[in-house]
Amino acid sequence: MKKDILSFTLSELAEVLNAFSLPKYRAAQVYRWLHKEGVSSFAEMTDISLAHRELLNDNFVIFTCVIEKKLISEYDSTVKYLFRLNDGEFVETVVMKYKYGYSVCVSSQVGCRMGCKFCASTLSGVVRNLYPSEILSQVYTAERDIGERISHIVMMGMGEPLDNYDNVMRFLSLITDENGKNISMRHISLSTCGIVPKINELAQKDLQLPLSVSLHAPNNTLRSAMMPVNRKWPVEELIKACKQYTSVTSRRISFEYALVAGQNDTPACAAELASLLKGMLCHINLIPVNEVKETGFKRSSQDNVQRFSDILAKKGFAVTVRRRMGSDINAACGQLRRKTQTEGIKEKS
Ligand code: SAH
Repeated sequence: MKKDILSFTLSELAEVLNAFSLPKYRAAQVYRWLHKEGVSSFAEMTDISLAHRELLNDNFVIFTCVIEKKLISEYDSTVKYLFRLNDGEFVETVVMKYKYGYSVCVSSQVGCRMGCKFCASTLSGVVRNLYPSEILSQVYTAERDIGERISHIVMMGMGEPLDNYDNVMRFLSLITDENGKNISMRHISLSTCGIVPKINELAQKDLQLPLSVSLHAPNNTLRSAMMPVNRKWPVEELIKACKQYTSVTSRRISFEYALVAGQNDTPACAAELASLLKGMLCHINLIPVNEVKETGFKRSSQDNVQRFSDILAKKGFAVTVRRRMGSDINAACGQLRRKTQTEGIKEKS
């Protein structure tokens, strides 16, 4: 079987290429083509001899993302890609333009097995984990396509990154490598639904990685009804892990809270949330829930969002309401892949 060349670190690449009697400088050249230039074929590596390119092609594969669909929002020029992977599976990736630069939202799994009731990505479960190369390739392909440097990454696409922990850790070390794209760890954020042991493991690594936690409810009754993961790691354990993360890394946590009409958007919920997070170094990001046909969840009214936000702000929390970017292009994660699956826009190859 051909080896997944994009998932190797530079020193691993030097080692495997050494086994084919390729010198160390060749590994550095190949790594630069892969990770700085983001090429998708060995043929593009023009300063590598033809014989070596053939050898690479015979023994290695560059996992790529092929643009299956590309949607551009008319409102805010958010770009959403449906990428086809080498095995014919699909993932979604979104590029957003901010004042500070371009940010890409990457997927970490094909589908998701966490079962959050409001989320489109999890409706048909998980198909498989993405390799580090396939997460990198989302960034490289998007960057090449838009022709602009991507400076920020959010791991908020399809999948639960901490359910694909090893591959995500390797992705992080490759994307921040100074011999590659060299994206600052502080410009990356990882969002989790709350896999407590992995949050603890991540804290011990002290990566300076901003962490987002999808909280969505202030107590176990509500949270377990929305997020099955809460039955395994309830709110108290999650908050304890978050406090630990903050105390080890000195980084504030961003709590995501999707507001669902009549469920978790009441003043009582806001007050309960305030007392749960009291004294924590954190930021609260309110997201009027994106309505997904199959889930039946309804978005909170603007008045209720404002009321919820005001209660938290009055208690001294840093709170923002997420701008709905790309709302006209199914930018909420999982919706485009699902549409392709259910409407069969294109048969999987
Ligand atoms: N599995 C990770 C990251 C993927 S989802 C996590 O759970 O954090 C990225 C964010 O979008 C999460 O906060 C998730 O709860 C939220 N989300 C998913 N579906 C949504 C929807 N329909 N409306 C609003 N937010 C949603």
